[in-house]
Amino acid sequence: MEITRLLTPLFSPRGEQCRPNRTMTPQSVTIHNTANPGAGAERHAAAQAAGNLANMQMAVHYYADDKSIYQSLEDHWQGWHAGDGENKNGGNYTSIAIEVCEHAGIDQRKAFVNAAWLAGTLCKKHGLDIRHIKRHKDWISGKWPKGKDCPHILLEGKDGMTWDWVIGTALVAPAAPPHLPVPMGPPAPHWAQATLDRLTDAGIISTPEAWADLDAPASKGQTLALYEKALINLSEFIEKRL
Ligand SMILES: [Zn+2]
Repeated sequence: MEITRLLTPLFSPRGEQCRPNRTMTPQSVTIHNTANPGAGAERHAAAQAAGNLANMQMAVHYYADDKSIYQSLEDHWQGWHAGDGENKNGGNYTSIAIEVCEHAGIDQRKAFVNAAWLAGTLCKKHGLDIRHIKRHKDWISGKWPKGKDCPHILLEGKDGMTWDWVIGTALVAPAAPPHLPVPMGPPAPHWAQATLDRLTDAGIISTPEAWADLDAPASKGQTLALYEKALINLSEFIEKRL
């Protein structure tokens, strides 16, 4: 899976601060839902990079939808995503954030598979394991004493999409990227095979094995014999109709 980088500058052109100016050693990966029915990964990443989320103090590392993954912050930059403020052991200070999009028309299952692949890949990259993949809800703060209802789709278990399913997918994801090649089926039949079958069934061709190599040239004799047989067959057909 390709990751498109669209990094967020520290300050927007208007001078707003777009992300914390602090680094971290990532200690976990946090899964969110955008709760935005109107935009996919590219638009979210572009909005963050343009400073349009600065007034909400929102800055996340990755956006994933069903077709793409955008990286908005370096893994070792701190973000604003957990709602737990300045807690030094909290999500903002220690965790890489993945926002999973949920816009109209999205293949939601695929978006979570892509996010799970990313989470698994990031764990591997930073020496973490699936125990270090968290829900936003796991970050408790004064603002959210019971944890925020996020990622809400997984918390609801909507259409069978559950937290356990995502974790199971993340576990196998690094070895099996989400875009598996389509397995090769049997080769397609020759374009003239159906014609050979029909002419054999109609009795016009009595030795189909002689025609098996459909790209081999026919002799003048074969062609004339076939032509004659076809005409006889046609005249018999017309006689029957009369
Ligand atoms: Zn969240």
